Amino acid sequence: MFSFEKLYSMGHEQVVFFSEPSCGLKAIVAIHDTTLGPALGGTRMWPYTSEEEALTDVLRLSKGMTYKAAVSGLNLGGGKAVIIGDPKVDKSEALFRAYGRFIESLNGRYITAEDVGITVDDIDHIYAETNSVCGVAIIHGGSGNPAPYTALGVFRGMQACAMKKFGSKSIAGKTVAVQGVGAVGFELCKLIKQDGGTIVYTDINEKNIQRIREHIEDATYVEPDKIFDVDCDIYAPCALGASVNDETIPRIKAGVICGAANNQLKEDRHGTILKQKDILYAPDYLINAGGLMNVSIEFEGWADSKSRRMINTIYDTTLKIFSISDEKDIPTNRAADVLAETRIKQMKDISNSFLGRAVEHRFPGQKRRHLLR
Ligand code: NAD
Repeated sequence: MFSFEKLYSMGHEQVVFFSEPSCGLKAIVAIHDTTLGPALGGTRMWPYTSEEEALTDVLRLSKGMTYKAAVSGLNLGGGKAVIIGDPKVDKSEALFRAYGRFIESLNGRYITAEDVGITVDDIDHIYAETNSVCGVAIIHGGSGNPAPYTALGVFRGMQACAMKKFGSKSIAGKTVAVQGVGAVGFELCKLIKQDGGTIVYTDINEKNIQRIREHIEDATYVEPDKIFDVDCDIYAPCALGASVNDETIPRIKAGVICGAANNQLKEDRHGTILKQKDILYAPDYLINAGGLMNVSIEFEGWADSKSRRMINTIYDTTLKIFSISDEKDIPTNRAADVLAETRIKQMKDISNSFLGRAVEHRFPGQKRRHLLR
């Protein structure tokens, strides 16, 4: 299952397997690329059916983090971790403390955070053992819930799309079809409404539907499968991945696709199809980077204003990607890759010793540790 061949082809620097039988810990950390800084990416806890499946997932996810940090202008590399286990039954303080000690042994090369199956309480256990963790509770000096910041980044990306497609960055008078009004989708709807946009939405969770009814009374609900047929200006996927595919593209009436979900395109070639159909696609891993930007500044002292200023840059970066797409006549998803790859390549030319000092300056490890829970 494991091969250096595979690591070479995907560009990974390091893969570490951690085990602690006394608490059932089986974890894999993949550090993809640290050219720009320490590798930051969440830990996912999932009942993988095989170790091979876990390894494939962590290799794929960590590479994605390199691109996300690079395109967002962050001084961070890409990494990710998976813990093999069922989050409903296999969690314990001992497991996360053991995991935290292993992360500590990586000496700052990898910084972890929340991902699927991990809660703030789990992060607190990890934080008891290592500074190399972010997304900790506000009372411990962390940044708290990332959803409003992720939504802000998506909204800035949406404004850039509106500027490019409709000639004004305002969403006023535009109809946005939102798929999924969970943590991020709900916050995004509030921003769209504030700017004067009209919302059509769907969800499968009654509680989340009810929340929209209470807060945005004039938003219109449609059944989940009908969201692709809505007569709208912007389609905002904020639920699961792969909602842009061969079946849905012919139905989408929007001129813009811009939402929070990860991996919105089922396959890369769907970006080409969108370009051919003149549907402007905002690359997901850039416009949903607000949450990553928000946690990244925990190491220099988190502040709401600092976070918002950083997230506002998503507007300009989105427009830059559209320019690359036009100049090179390539789809926008590919243009985002080009921007990320170019930055990493340029930074590789700077000597490692210089980068090492810069990283140490930006991530002063010893300052944040809390010793008591
Ligand atoms: P969430 O679970 O809070 O919300 C997702 C919502 O989508 C839920 O209300 C769920 O019921 C709904 N949903 C699921 N399947 C659906 C379907 N078939 N049709 C309609 N609705 C459906 O998750 P979230 O934190 O809001 O994240 C949303 C997306 O954004 C995810 O893809 C996530 O990976 C991505 N994302 C989130 C963050 C963040 O800060 N939370 C950051 C980056 C990317």
